[in-house]
Amino acid sequence: TSVAESSVLINSIKTDMELGSAVCAVRSKRVLVGDEVRPAVILIKDGKIHQILSDGEFSEDVTCEVLDVGDSVVMPGIVDCHVHVNEPGRTSWEGFWTATRAAAAGGVTTIVDMPLNSIPPTTTLGNFHEKLREATEKCFVDTAFWGGVIPGNQLELRPMIQAGVAGFKCFLIHSGVEEFPHMTDCDLHAAMKQLQGTGSVLLFHAEREVQITEENGDPSQYSTFLQSRPDVMEVEAIRTVTELCLQYRVRCHIVHLSSAKPLKLIQEARQAGAPLTVETTHHYLSLCAENIPAGATQFKCCPPIRGSINQEQLWSALKAGHIDMVVSDHSPCTPELKKLESGDFNQAWGGISSLQFGLPLFWSSASKRGFQLPDVVRLLSQKTAQLCGLDHQKGNLALGYDADLVIWDPEREFEIKEANVYHKNKLTPYLGITLRGVVCATVVRGQLVYRGGSFCPEPLGKHLLIPPEEKSSPAVKHNNNKLGVCSAEALLHLLPKIFGGFCFTRHAAGNMSTISVPKPKCLQKPLVVPHRYMFGPGPSNVPARILEAGANPVIGHMHPEIFEIMGDIKSGIQYMFQTQNNMTLAVSGTGHTAMECAIFNAVEPGESVLAAVNGIWGERAAEIAERIGARVNTIVAPPGGFFTNAEIEQALSKYRPVVFFLAHGESSTGVLHPLDGIGQLCHKYNCLLLVDSVASIGGAPLCMDQQEIDILYTGSQKVLNAPPGTAPISFSERACQKIFNRKTKPMSFFLDLSWLANYWGCDGKPARVYHHTGPVTAFYSLRESLAVLVEEGLENSWERHQKVAEYFHTGLENMGLKLFVKEKKARLPTVTTIVAPNGYDWKEITTYIMKTHNLEISGGLGPSVGLVLRVGLMGCNSSKDSVDMVLAALKDALKHCHKSKV
Ligand code: PMP
Repeated sequence: TSVAESSVLINSIKTDMELGSAVCAVRSKRVLVGDEVRPAVILIKDGKIHQILSDGEFSEDVTCEVLDVGDSVVMPGIVDCHVHVNEPGRTSWEGFWTATRAAAAGGVTTIVDMPLNSIPPTTTLGNFHEKLREATEKCFVDTAFWGGVIPGNQLELRPMIQAGVAGFKCFLIHSGVEEFPHMTDCDLHAAMKQLQGTGSVLLFHAEREVQITEENGDPSQYSTFLQSRPDVMEVEAIRTVTELCLQYRVRCHIVHLSSAKPLKLIQEARQAGAPLTVETTHHYLSLCAENIPAGATQFKCCPPIRGSINQEQLWSALKAGHIDMVVSDHSPCTPELKKLESGDFNQAWGGISSLQFGLPLFWSSASKRGFQLPDVVRLLSQKTAQLCGLDHQKGNLALGYDADLVIWDPEREFEIKEANVYHKNKLTPYLGITLRGVVCATVVRGQLVYRGGSFCPEPLGKHLLIPPEEKSSPAVKHNNNKLGVCSAEALLHLLPKIFGGFCFTRHAAGNMSTISVPKPKCLQKPLVVPHRYMFGPGPSNVPARILEAGANPVIGHMHPEIFEIMGDIKSGIQYMFQTQNNMTLAVSGTGHTAMECAIFNAVEPGESVLAAVNGIWGERAAEIAERIGARVNTIVAPPGGFFTNAEIEQALSKYRPVVFFLAHGESSTGVLHPLDGIGQLCHKYNCLLLVDSVASIGGAPLCMDQQEIDILYTGSQKVLNAPPGTAPISFSERACQKIFNRKTKPMSFFLDLSWLANYWGCDGKPARVYHHTGPVTAFYSLRESLAVLVEEGLENSWERHQKVAEYFHTGLENMGLKLFVKEKKARLPTVTTIVAPNGYDWKEITTYIMKTHNLEISGGLGPSVGLVLRVGLMGCNSSKDSVDMVLAALKDALKHCHKSKV
């Protein structure tokens, strides 16, 4: 019986119900309820299963139409969580329209689309939105979406989770398409860190390159291809997956396992508590290498179809529950790409199309091996739904679940003929074979989408966006199925293994202090930090490489390895500051700590200090100096302005200060202060030049020695892209002379330079003495951030920031916005101040952009409050892409925020 002929037999369905209409009841002599097949009537309301009645309980005189399917089996629709739809971009290969019709014809009520082979791939939030737009009104069954993890996109993962992807897929070997590169170990760690605590799942194409002896066999022989992808490639990849899974306890899933060899590794990892699942596909279970003819490239897929002994091992593992689920891995392409004429396995696209035939393919082999209908539902619907967070809604014929039903005749046979294949390219290795199990009709959320070769006229499927909350408590959810995160008991069991057999004993109750403050509930939830574009004046985004450096083990802050790292940091700061100063180090603290360190050490009570005030930082410096009893004078320029050397000289000669403070990058007003000649002027008046470069270093030219700067400091959180918490500082010979000849001790012990100089090995003494416990992990990040700067080169970094700033400024002016700093050469390339747009509330703009674009920009600070918007593009954020994002966000905000008419 062919599928087309089955439409005749379907007359047993006593209805003339139109395709596409809502079904209110389905009646059959064989409904699979739980593990039992029995006569029943399923009542459907609002697309959900409302009631399941035994045949006797059902009264015929219901007002709606009943779909009576005789003795066809009714069970939950198939959830195929591994489908390459390839739209947008490669619609000649497949597309939502054709793929979901093929799905409906095969009793598949939900598909989950893979992130690759479409162009663009689903690897950014923007691309995901594009995918959703493309899939709109083209789906005949429900469709969920996997995101993709590729090198460098880790900051996109959390936004995609928020937006509703089911989880992510990545490759450990070339994916076959250039736009979806595979992951290195370093990329994997970065991605796992992002996924920790989200409850999301990472899917692995688990093959890895291994050293294999080159065989130049006949490329039209299947054996040649098979030898090129041996089992060990899967074993090695899965070893990596199990290690990652155990280390991070992030849910991991191995897609399309073809080799039985890694099963032992997988089982061991699971027993150790790894939240790891694995799928195999219909083709590995139904096709054997021995039977693949020469040149039959429609059988090519990666990993490859292996021999019959291996296949029996896969079936045994499925029976034993060691493989969790079976999917199609429907991966179509055009006939040209399959190289059918040449039959060259090396050149042909790897992928097998079988979405429509999953159920009968599986059943034809499984029923012979003693699998029953409940096994089919478990392996093809429930476990797959669970993997993608749909198990509360799909894959179960139970009250409240979506009324997704496949109505089929498991005993009847049919032959696969090209005319009855509904996916776009009718290429499939199964043409001409006879299978058991004819799908008669498919119901999606209560609507009849397919019946005997005909489809509802319009697509009825919907996008399934998985709410992140559903995935936020993996421990609870996945403990139930024994695959999840380690239970408390299991952990107790493991502890002796981890800690070498130590025994933890409780003190007798009498000796114990009584606990009266209970454990805070908030700390029993996982830490969740959202991804955000950090385009304000700081902190900036921290790239994975630097975050990862900070995740290295903590060792003693006075261990030789840390001293070496501190030495590296010192060299990095000398390069960044362009100085030979020996007294160069990083204080433990933020920019303010360095500010205080400079002033507390260089100034004694009663001494005269001059501060240039053209924004908040001069005000702050003056305030700090006042607090230690200095006599403070200021020169003041309006916000957005700066000082000429003549004005500075005049003040130096008038106030005769010991220290003159100047902010190179005035981040509150967006001014880059000229520096040339000021050091020389200060020295003429026997004064030290103290420069704040927190917002400018690395992003605008500065050479400490050449410009005769005596004390220079910065922070880690801006151009350096390290987390806040360390602050580079350097002192010239002249500054050291003054500091080490003070009459009084500096008022801060913590910031006393003689202590810091010893801790940083700058005082020439043979031994370092404990002063404070250096933040070692912050040192790791700082070192890495300096390495990034060294890698790019200082001049290149200056130039990049300048070019990006100019591109940004032009974009702003083209939008009709005005720059706050009038003089072009005085515009700080790292932090741009934009005149607050007329008629708008700046706060509403920044709030709107944060809410709608997940992007931070800020208002003014100190004297610029209410006057400006501030945008910081620093370090890795200084790129044209970031500029385009900010401009788009600003345009959108100006369109949507309230504008007063006055
Ligand atoms: N100086 C300047 C120019 C700054 O921009 C900042 C930070 N915005 C600081 C000093 C203070 O740095 P922190 O916030 O790290 O203490």
